Parts: sequence; C-alpha cells; structure tokens
Amino acid sequence: MKRSRQQTAVLLQLEQSARVARQVTDIHWDGNLPVDLPAIAQGLNLRMQQDGSLAGGDACLVYDAERSTLRVNPVNSRQRQRFAIAHGLAHHCLGHPSHADAPDSFNMGADIASLEANLFALEVLMPELAVRQVIRQEDLYDVSELAQRFGVSATAMHVRLQSLDLITQQDLDCSSAR
Ligand SMILES: [Zn+2]
Repeated sequence: MKRSRQQTAVLLQLEQSARVARQVTDIHWDGNLPVDLPAIAQGLNLRMQQDGSLAGGDACLVYDAERSTLRVNPVNSRQRQRFAIAHGLAHHCLGHPSHADAPDSFNMGADIASLEANLFALEVLMPELAVRQVIRQEDLYDVSELAQRFGVSATAMHVRLQSLDLITQQDLDCSSAR
C-alpha cells in the first residue's frame, strides 16, 4: 500500500515535469527544427556557457537568484550537448538546486530529479506535434533520419517514438537487425 502510494507520487511528479516542458515549448519555441535550445535558454533568462574544464561531465547548472548559468562541455558530440542542455533547462525550470551532470544522469534508471529532467528533455527536443508532423508530412520513418532532423541521438529518438507509441519493440528489433 505504502509502496503504491509512493509510486503514484513519483508518476505525478514525472507527469508534472513533462507538463512544464510542454509549457516551455509552447511559449519559447519558434516552431523550427531542430529546436533552438539557446533561444529557449535566453527566453528563460538562463545564461549558457561552454566549459572545457568539465572533464568527463556533461553539464553543470550553477544557481543564481538573479541569473543562473548552464555550463556545457563542448568536447561531447553535438547531439549529446543538446541533450545535456535540454536536461539542464529542466533542472532550471523545475527549481532543482545547483547540479552537475555526468553521463549516468541520462540513464532512465537514475534518481527522480534526473528522471524528471530526462523526460523534460525528450519533450523539449522532440515536441509531440512536430514528431507526428514530420512522420506524416514527410513520410519519414527512418529513426536515424528522424534523429538527424531533431538534432538528437538515435537512442533518444527511439525512446521518444516508443513513448508516443509510434514504434513497437518489433520495429526496434527489425531496425537493429538490419
Ligand atoms: Zn541532471
């Protein structure tokens, strides 16, 4: 009983983070792809900096009452940096304290704050409407090509397509067998 209440609380918290992400997208996204993350950060009064000293890390959110800063490791691939930025935007928007992200922050089995940030990132990087539109209007079903359009990794695209029920485990098995 106690456990199921806790699980419900976690689910509500995760739903809330996805809802905040959709609000951010509604207000700050210009509708173009890939989603312009620096423009969204600017709209949210979040300063962005590249920081080559984040050895092995992905990003670091430094809270400041006036203007927080998101430092991003420029050594990583473009897709990884974009995910780190979207994930950092989540910590900023969800009121999480100063926070450093290493690669395991992006796992779906991580702590609740990381999970919230990851769900938020998927929503912001791949808005549902845009995903459905690109697939329908451009007849684009290839996960790698879709990933390229949205500026994300194929893994992130897979997770998003699954969460929107646009891909089945069978599709995944077929595409990895190719
Ligand atoms: Zn994080």
